[in-house]
Amino acid sequence: MDLIDTHCHLNDPAFSAALPEVIARAQAAGVGRFVVPAYDLASLERTAQLAEAYRGIVFPAYGLHPWYIDESFDPEQVRPYLRRADAVAVGEIGLDLSPECPPADLQVRALVSQLDMAAEFNLPVLLHCRKAYDSLYGILKPYQGRLSGVLHSYAGGAEGLARFVALGFYISFSGSVTRSNARKYHRTAAIVPLDRFLLETDAPSIATESMVASAVEPRHVLEVARKIADLRGLPLAEVGRLSTENTLRLFSRIPPA
Ligand SMILES: [Zn+2]
Repeated sequence: MDLIDTHCHLNDPAFSAALPEVIARAQAAGVGRFVVPAYDLASLERTAQLAEAYRGIVFPAYGLHPWYIDESFDPEQVRPYLRRADAVAVGEIGLDLSPECPPADLQVRALVSQLDMAAEFNLPVLLHCRKAYDSLYGILKPYQGRLSGVLHSYAGGAEGLARFVALGFYISFSGSVTRSNARKYHRTAAIVPLDRFLLETDAPSIATESMVASAVEPRHVLEVARKIADLRGLPLAEVGRLSTENTLRLFSRIPPA
């Protein structure tokens, strides 16, 4: 199996001490490569260093997550990182209208300026979205044809899926879909076009059926793949093959194996 965890935070301080073991365990499970998105200002440099230490294994994305946006946001903080040859995407960026999050107008401004840079650098985007799928769709629509990307750990429901697929976006499944009572995610996985799904863990943030969030590592992408295989009635190897093919199509800077 040649799986890619398309969204994991190996740049999270929680992983720093055990990182070589975490990567070895993932490789032993057939998960050999990782897309690692930055999220706050300090993580930009950490992510670049990680990509240098694990060249060809860790593929970095650079951007600022909506949770970490304030009045001082300046796209020029991100731009130098997008010029790096190792950048495979702009992210993690997005929109989160949960009540505890920064003001929506600040988030939208930061999102739009990072989408503009993604179009400028011809890079796909890694999108976080909570309670904001209609607004996010409205923001993405004008970029149709000049921007692609993925809705990471998609929670927008099967009904909302087609419009994002029509815009050219991919849908990524995390540990959320593995939970036995997660019917909404199961319905989404049952209808997602087979050329538009990706696999991820978002480690260490999202629990799987078998693991609490803090114990989730990239190796658990195999559990996500198994669940998708189950829900689609496909062999696990076929789900692995399709997800890697989709990943390489979206992230054109990741070399084919
Ligand atoms: Zn994330």
